[in-house]
Amino acid sequence: FCPAGAIREVDHIERVLKAMDDKKIVVLQTAPSTRVAISECFGEPSGSIGTGKMVAAAKLAGFSYVFDTNFTADLTIMEEGTELLGRVANGGPFPMFTSCCPGWINLCEKRFPEYIPNLSSCRSPMQMMSPIIKTYFAKRTGINPDDLYVVAMMPCTAKKDEIERPQMFRDGKKDTEAVLTTRELGELIKRKGINWDDLPDLPYDDPIGASTGAAALFGATGGVMEAALRTAYELKTGKTLPSVEFQQVRGLAGVKEAEIPVDGLNVRVAVASGTANVLALMDKIKKGAEYHFVEIMACPGGCIGGGGQPISLDKDILKKRMESIYSIDERSVIRKSHENPMITEIYKNFFGKPGSHLSHELLHTTYSDRSTKIVKKEETVKEVAGAGE
Ligand code: SF4
Repeated sequence: FCPAGAIREVDHIERVLKAMDDKKIVVLQTAPSTRVAISECFGEPSGSIGTGKMVAAAKLAGFSYVFDTNFTADLTIMEEGTELLGRVANGGPFPMFTSCCPGWINLCEKRFPEYIPNLSSCRSPMQMMSPIIKTYFAKRTGINPDDLYVVAMMPCTAKKDEIERPQMFRDGKKDTEAVLTTRELGELIKRKGINWDDLPDLPYDDPIGASTGAAALFGATGGVMEAALRTAYELKTGKTLPSVEFQQVRGLAGVKEAEIPVDGLNVRVAVASGTANVLALMDKIKKGAEYHFVEIMACPGGCIGGGGQPISLDKDILKKRMESIYSIDERSVIRKSHENPMITEIYKNFFGKPGSHLSHELLHTTYSDRSTKIVKKEETVKEVAGAGE
């Protein structure tokens, strides 16, 4: 966000409105952290939960279906958990890094390419949801996938770049056509003349709108780790967790570390959010610190502090949004990703099992070393500086 207005973020509102005018079937998916921030666009207190109103507003604004990215957060846990257990069985490579955050993926590819093999191969939940809409959902409803236009509502400006990654194209087409930040969806709702205060609470559309408390946690730093630990522990040990809350990875500390005993193995984990903290943790890892699993989010506090969220002068904004995320988890009937019945159904009827051939085709990705471009740029700068002397 540039206070002088000299740099403007790429605005996708016009392309979404055009798709609606073109009579496309425009579908919205909404990220975990957006529901604890969207209400702030309409003057509600920091951290208010606006899930139902957000769905109602999106329907009135012209979206034909509204799905919950939390569903694919649960799916991420199934795929990433399977990948982690596979690495434990095969001896690594460790640490395995989460891959939901495009800010972190960009940093890793450019600054730490030697750790690319350590990145989980899972696409982000956003980039898992869109191909599911265009395959599984399209098939169930008899809709031609070419008629669908998928929009993602995200806390994040980096997600606009993520949908342009060459690895995210299938058959030469994008899976996600547009990304609206939380601020942009708020702006679109206002432009459509929708009165937020009068909106009812509406549920997400089935069958890919159902999610668990674990998925809700993805919105805050430590949430992916906590969700993964809930599932990895129960799937590995076959026992029910005495408590699903892993306090060691909760809260706003920039770096958190824990050791969790799972079936005779002390699983060493770390969580970092905010670029300075990420760089400090990477330095520690390069110097020999050993972990099995590391969650990294580029923004302070994770996605609750994303660059596309409403701007706030409340100094406790992250704490309040985080408390709302935890309360969504606490109030959820199901709090573990592997217990989501819709996840069970999609594996039974579509993917087969986590890590299957089809899962790899639609839910996983690859990365590339982009560090050489930086070196070349620095060399060019040196050359130019030399020429001027
Ligand atoms: Fe985007 Fe920030 Fe969330 Fe990363 S942490 S996905 S950059 S909002």
